[in-house]
Amino acid sequence: MPRKMIVETAISIKNADWLGLSETRSIVKALGSERMRFVGGAVRDALLARPVTDIDVATLLEPVDVMARLEAVGIKAVASGFSHGTITAVTDSRSFEITTLRKDAETFGRHARVEFTDDWEIDASRRDFTINALYADAEGKVYDPLGGMSDLAGPVIRFIGDAFTRIEEDALRILRFFRLSAELGVKDIDQGGLKATVERKHLLGTLSSERIRNELLKLLAAPEPAACLMVMTEAGILREILPDISDLSGLRSLLISEDKQKVCDPLRRLYALICGNGGSVQKFSEALKLSRKESDRLAAMEKVIRLMAGSPEKQNLEEVLYTFGREAARDALYLTAGQDLGVRLKQLETQDIPIFPLSGAELKACGYSEGEALGKALATLEGKWIRGGFRASKKALLNELQKQQA
Ligand code: ATP
Ligand code: MG
Repeated sequence: MPRKMIVETAISIKNADWLGLSETRSIVKALGSERMRFVGGAVRDALLARPVTDIDVATLLEPVDVMARLEAVGIKAVASGFSHGTITAVTDSRSFEITTLRKDAETFGRHARVEFTDDWEIDASRRDFTINALYADAEGKVYDPLGGMSDLAGPVIRFIGDAFTRIEEDALRILRFFRLSAELGVKDIDQGGLKATVERKHLLGTLSSERIRNELLKLLAAPEPAACLMVMTEAGILREILPDISDLSGLRSLLISEDKQKVCDPLRRLYALICGNGGSVQKFSEALKLSRKESDRLAAMEKVIRLMAGSPEKQNLEEVLYTFGREAARDALYLTAGQDLGVRLKQLETQDIPIFPLSGAELKACGYSEGEALGKALATLEGKWIRGGFRASKKALLNELQKQQA
C-alpha cells in the first residue's frame, strides 16, 4: 500500500464515465490498481462534473516497467518524457499520460532533474496547485493530501508551497494560475498567488511560444475568460505575452454572441482580442508560433472582415461564402454580429456555395489557348457572375464572351 495517503472515503467522483471506459480499465489492469492513481485535470474536472478529456495517471512503477507492462498487453507506449518519468499510453479513443511518482530535485523551467519516489505526498507537493494534487483510485475514491477539495469548493487556485519559489521554478505556473481561475470561474482570486504572479511576471519572457500558446488558447476556451484577462491586463501580465493588447471590448462583444449561440471558439476569440486592439494577425501568429491551419484561419478572418467593412454591399452572405468558404463566413458573422446573428447563421448553414459554371476547358473550346489571356478572360467573367448575384448561366456567360470577342 502507498504510504501517507489521506483518504476521503466520503467522496466519489461525480462525472466518472471515463473511469468505466474499456481503455481506462485496460490501463488499470496493465499497471495494477494498487500501483496507480488518476490525478490532475481528470480528477479535478470529474469532481466539478465537467467533461474529462485527457487523463493523467500517477504510478509507483518506474518508466521502464510502465512501458513493459503496456506493451505486454498490446497497448502502444510512447516514451514521451522518459527522463522525467512520463510514458504516454495511446489507445483508440484517447491517450493516457502515465508519470512515475517523483520529486523535482532541481527545476529549470519546463525541465527538472527528477528523483523517483514511492511517497504520494512528495509527488503531490511537486505539483502546481492544491486542486491539481487530487488523486483518485480505480474505483473513484478520492485522495486529498493537500486540501484540494476545499479549494475546489471555493473555488480558489492556491499554489502548493511558496508561490514566489514555485513561479521561479517554472513561470508557466503564472499562466496556469489564470487559466484555471478562468476555467473554474474563480470570483476571489487568491491574493498571495496574485501578488507572486505580478512580481514575477518578467519571467514569462523565458517561456517558449508553444507553452504560452497552449495556455492562452485554454484560457480563451473558458466559459468567461474576460474577467481573468482583465485582471491580467490591469496587473501588466497580459502585455508580457501579447504586447499591445489592453482593450477587451472586441472580445467581450464576441463572447456575448458566442454565449447566445452556446458555442466557444478559442481561436476566434484570439482574433477578436487581436483585432479589437488594431493588431496584425501575422505578427501574433508568428509570435505565438501558431500552426499553419490556425494562422490561415486567422488570416481568412482578417481578409473577410476587411472586405465586409470596405463596402456594405459586400456583406452579401453568398459572396462571402463563395470567396472565403463556410468557416470564414461563419467567423465573420460572429465577429460582426448584430441582433440578427441567429437568423444569419441559419441562412448560412442552409446556403449552398455557388459553383462557377465555366471552366478553362470550355474557354479553350471557344478558341482560347492556355495562358494569361485565358486566365484573364475567366477572371473577368467570374467577376461579372459574382456581381450579378451568381445568377448568370453558362450560356449567358458564353454569349457575353462572344460579344467581347466580336
Ligand atoms: P488540462 O489537462 O485540463 O490542461 P491539467 O491540470 O491536467 O489540465 P496537465 O498539463 O495535463 O494539466 O498536467 C497534469 C498535472 O501535472 C497537473 O494537474 C499538475 O498536477 C501537474 N502539472 C502540470 N503542469 C505543471 C507545472 N507547470 N508545474 C507543476 N505541476 C504541473
Ligand atoms: Mg491533464
